[in-house]
Amino acid sequence: MRLFYFILITICFASCSISKNATKGEMAFAKNSVVAHRGAWKQNNFPENSIASLKHAIKLNCTGSEFDVRMTADDSLIVNHDPHYNGLLIEKTNYSDLIKFKLSNGEKLPTLREYIKAGIENNQSTSLVCEIKPSLISKERGQIIATKVVRLTEKLKAQHMVAYISFDYDMLKKIMELSPNTTTQYLEGNKSPDQLKADGITGADYHFSAFKNHPEWIESAKKNNITLNAWTVNEAADMDWLIANRFDFITTNEPELLFERIKKSPTVSGWKLSWSDEFNYKGLPDSTKWNYDVGGHGWGNNELQYYTEKDTLNAIVKGGYLNIIARKQIKENKQYTSARILTKNKADFKYGKIEVQAKLPAGRGTWPAIWMLGKNIDNAGWPLCGEIDIMEHVGYNKDSIFGTIHTESYNHIKGTQKMKGIFIDKPYDSFHVFSIEWTPEKIDFMMDGVVYNHIVNEHLTTNEWPFDQPFYLIMNLAIGGGWGGKKGIDETVFPAVMQIDYVRVYKKEN
Ligand code: MG
Repeated sequence: MRLFYFILITICFASCSISKNATKGEMAFAKNSVVAHRGAWKQNNFPENSIASLKHAIKLNCTGSEFDVRMTADDSLIVNHDPHYNGLLIEKTNYSDLIKFKLSNGEKLPTLREYIKAGIENNQSTSLVCEIKPSLISKERGQIIATKVVRLTEKLKAQHMVAYISFDYDMLKKIMELSPNTTTQYLEGNKSPDQLKADGITGADYHFSAFKNHPEWIESAKKNNITLNAWTVNEAADMDWLIANRFDFITTNEPELLFERIKKSPTVSGWKLSWSDEFNYKGLPDSTKWNYDVGGHGWGNNELQYYTEKDTLNAIVKGGYLNIIARKQIKENKQYTSARILTKNKADFKYGKIEVQAKLPAGRGTWPAIWMLGKNIDNAGWPLCGEIDIMEHVGYNKDSIFGTIHTESYNHIKGTQKMKGIFIDKPYDSFHVFSIEWTPEKIDFMMDGVVYNHIVNEHLTTNEWPFDQPFYLIMNLAIGGGWGGKKGIDETVFPAVMQIDYVRVYKKEN
């Protein structure tokens, strides 16, 4: 049984009890994605790769605890990250000379034998994620180290507990040769899941930036039953992204934080990511996802901007964000340019959870919006098509954001729109998550997870509830207009920028 594949199955079918299904020799590993990097050391100030850190990872119920193995000059396998220990090059130093130095908590430098023995004792939750460091002396010595590690694991009857990871691809191949049913994850981040599959490697354990650069690897790994692991993930934002994408494992120095983020993730309540743009690329917005509304006709609100098309002066992805930029720039008799991008004819959404993390532009006269229109607008017209304003903000009222629906019966022409606002702290300095949760029964408007507007389906007609049809998403930065321009425009605020970190759309899993 492939250990990590086993865990993958567990995660995919979280509802079934794994302990019930576990047979002799199999482990009921914790049903989470948390792998403590070099053990759980940080919060208690334990030394990395110490047995104390391993024990703490087990205590935290991490699904895995990672550690690093090296071999001394006299062929002892020991656990240490760096090639040096107390200034001595491990591969050139005898074991007896190394253990003259204690770890900072008074522990002896652990041998692999001691480490594995400690790891299999009273442990029903945590797999031992064993990184075999490549030999600095020779590739051949690396092969010898790998062989010795596998043999020792077998001798200690710990095969079912151990997964192997390495930057040395040939080392992993060697391990597969010695122990064909074992779990191996490659660390370097330069091979596609297809290649791993072809070579019999069971997982991709890459730096998270490799997955940002190759988002297509996430799907392809899932298709190929290649487990997904990312290292070393210490920031909440990166964790959220990996959790949303249902990584099997996330390797971190901050296991406590990762547990917190998992609890807060939509995936915990059965939401499955169905569409997203993380803006981890450069240049114009991805043309497979976004269109433009173009022109200077004011959009019925007497807005003052001209919306450009495919112009990086107004819409550019860089630094991990989409920047929608309003400029003081004359175009076709308009004094400002900006952008309005939309998913119409690229993607539309019916029900779900739609999350946009964004930082708002500053200044009187700006009017940024993240919102949706019914896909039938061209036939039905507005407001019969329905409108869902996930986030609106006007610069002269900087401490509030608003969530609103407009329908044939409830709209701002009649003054009957269903709108509510919520206080926003530091709108210009920090990112906030603007979202809706939309079902056949209700639409909840949220900021940072707090519901501030709750719209229920009254089950009357589509005049009241046009929200049983697909909608498309729009993001724009207007200047002036009936609402945004009510108190004039501060001409010193340009260029004004709305930054969008991500758009994530989730569907409820059946
Ligand atoms: Mg390591």
